Parts: sequence; structure tokens; C-alpha cells
Amino acid sequence: MQLGFRFDPAKKRFMRLILIGPPGSGKGTQAKLLSQRLGLVHFATGDILRDESQKDTPEGIRANQHMRAGQLVPDELINELVNARFNGVQKPSKFVMDGYPRTLAQAVYFDAVLQKQALEPDAVIFLKVQDEEIVRRNGARWTCLNPDCRATYNTITKPPKVPGRCDLCQQLLFQRDDDKPDTIRKRLHVFHAQHDDILRHYQKRSLLVEVPGTGDIEVIYGNIVQALTRSSDPS
Ligand SMILES: [Zn+2]
Repeated sequence: MQLGFRFDPAKKRFMRLILIGPPGSGKGTQAKLLSQRLGLVHFATGDILRDESQKDTPEGIRANQHMRAGQLVPDELINELVNARFNGVQKPSKFVMDGYPRTLAQAVYFDAVLQKQALEPDAVIFLKVQDEEIVRRNGARWTCLNPDCRATYNTITKPPKVPGRCDLCQQLLFQRDDDKPDTIRKRLHVFHAQHDDILRHYQKRSLLVEVPGTGDIEVIYGNIVQALTRSSDPS
């Protein structure tokens, strides 16, 4: 059977991954683990943009303007920034992408970038978590009102000793807009609208591997490694 990617965790030789997961799925944490344990360069779009916006390059200044206005940075600007990192002597041979590509246009562009550098991706991992599970997990987050404390709690995994009160300073807890179920559902809606196309795109290229994204961090990491190993086994 012809497979689009190869994986050999023992030899750690593999290793161009694109990690896709809904917001709040723990994708960033898994990307970090993959990077540390498999020696991959971690490309987090958020980091790239923060990095760039601190420089006085034309791209950095443009990225900054969009972010300050609370807008999404346009495809073409992100594409340029990613392309720059995959060109020249510093280009990585092993990497995990985290947050890019996030539109079909970016995915198509990225295909071309990698092809030009002879760095075909080995696999695209989709961390699959049900929407309601994400709402449940992330909608349980509460933050201390005290601006000097800002401790965070999770009513499922790390509840305060007294409901609604901070353990550290006894101030009231509140729910940030970002943690409200309605906001989370809206973000998930945007994610699905953009990513269904991307997932189909990689499925056609036989690169897509679906991994259950539930359980604790190590369980999910184990699922990823297992899925990659299994999928690359030709038998
Ligand atoms: Zn507090």
C-alpha cells in the first residue's frame, strides 16, 4: 500500500508535520511536545507574528497594524512570512506547523513552498475533539477579578475551594469573554468553516491522520505517535 508519509519514532527521522485542531483542543501543547521529543522546529503562527511585529521590517509593521486592530492577518502576509522562513540557509528540515495553514489558500501556497524546497510533509495530524467537549472544557475557566492576582480556575479540573471565590485573595471570580460558551462556539464555527476544506485537501493527498484529542496530555500525545506509527506501517 502506498502511503503519503513515513514515521519511525525510534529513529526519529521523520518529520515534517502539520498539526490541525480546533481552538481549545490543546493543539499548541501537543505541537510543543512533538517539537521537544522529536527534535522538530516548532512553527507557531502566533509566535512568528509576535516575533515579526517586534521588528521594524515592512512585514512586521503591517502585521502589527492588523493585530492592533484586532483583525486577522491577511493570507498573503502570513504566506510571505512563512515562505521567508523556509528559504535560505536557516530553513528547517524537520518541523511541526501549529496554526498554519489555516485557510485553503494558505494550504495551497504552503504546498508550493515545501515542494520548491524538497520538503514534502510526512503527515497532517487532525486532533479530533467534539465541539461540546471543547465548550465544556474551556467554558469552565474562571479568572480572579483582582487585577494584581488574576489566578485562573477550572470548575472541572481545578475548582476553587469556595465556589466563585479566589483561593489566593478571596476576590470574586469572573468569566472572561474568551472563555464564555457563546464565544467558544463562535470560534469553533469559524474553525469548521475554514478547516473542512483544508482537511479534504490533505485527505486527497493521503496525508491526513485523525487522532482522538480527548484524555490528558500524555494520552493524546500517545494517540498521535500511535496513529503515525500505525498509518506508516505498510502491512
Ligand atoms: Zn485572586
